[in-house]
Formats: sequence, structure tokens, C-alpha cells
Amino acid sequence: MDWHSAPSLATSQDMSEFDFLSGIDDVPPTPILIAPQPVLREVTRDVRPEDIAFIRDQLPGMFSAMYKAPGIGLAAPQVGLGMRFALVDVAEEDAPREPMLLINPEIISDSDQLASREEGCLSLPNQYAEVVRPESIRVRYRNLAGETIERDASGLLATCIQHEMDHLDGILFVDHLSTLKRNMIMRRLAKEQKLRRH
Ligand SMILES: [Zn+2]
Repeated sequence: MDWHSAPSLATSQDMSEFDFLSGIDDVPPTPILIAPQPVLREVTRDVRPEDIAFIRDQLPGMFSAMYKAPGIGLAAPQVGLGMRFALVDVAEEDAPREPMLLINPEIISDSDQLASREEGCLSLPNQYAEVVRPESIRVRYRNLAGETIERDASGLLATCIQHEMDHLDGILFVDHLSTLKRNMIMRRLAKEQKLRRH
């Protein structure tokens, strides 16, 4: 696959990329790393065409982990992979799945209008806080076939995509809070994780 040829602009993800989801309940979930794991703080590198086969192999375990948690997004660093890709599915639990795979995502525009939404993170279990971000975005990314996709997102989907893209730069949602609040959450998380191990 040559990503340097003129990109074909698709309007949505090719759902056949997610054929494996029909048996996802039987797939062992990939373990999710918990903060303050150092890999969560690293900036990832761009995905290259030669990485696609590897990523394809990671997807069933990663989707399984996201759905079992349950969560609405999972970025590669959360399973220890330093590559620019993330999964998102903000569909309601009873509704049909709406999986998205964003490879090398970029936000090409965002709204002046901001929205505050409560966020949590599978790498910071049981911790939640209001985070302010642009209410809507336009995101460009690649799919497994190397096609470029552009998509407008608002509301929960926009929040989730921005949260997952932060992970690709080593940023956690608590970084958007005051130092005081962030330290409080990180201390509470450390305490809870310690109790869990004992
Ligand atoms: Zn997260």
C-alpha cells in the first residue's frame, strides 16, 4: 500500500474492516495500562503502511478490552503501543455498534464554541471530572485500507475523539484540570490501586 499516492477521500469507515466484531465476546481483552504508567506519557509515532498488518492483529483484543470495560474509546498507548491510532465507539449500550478506527488522526478544524463534559478514562479507573473542549471538530484520519477519511463530530463523539487523540501525545484528561485537582485525582487513583493489590 502506498500512502503517498493521491488519497481517495472516503466519507465513512468501511465496516468490513470490523468483521471480527461478530465474535468479539469470545476474544480475550488486551490488558489496559493504568496511570502513572510511563508509556501513557510518551508521544506516539505515525503509523506507517508496514504497520497495518500488526495493527489489524491488535484490533480484536483492543476492541474486546474497550467493550468489556465498558468504555467508549481506547488509544494505542493504553495497551503499551507507541503508535498513532485509537478506537472509538460512542453508541449506546443497547444500540448497534458504531466502531471507528482512527489512524494518524488530525483535527483540521474545531469550533469556537466550547462544551464541558464529564470525562473518565480506562487508564484512570473510577476517576471523573468535567473537561472543557471545543464542542465540534472536523477530523481527518486513515482507515486500514490507507484511505483518508474526513468526518465532522460534535457532542460526545467530538469529546471522545479529542480525549483519544490527547493520549497519542501523552496527554491525559486530568492535564486539562488545575494542578490541585489533577494531584487530588492522581493521589486518589494511587490509593485505590494500592488497595486493589492488597
Ligand atoms: Zn483515556
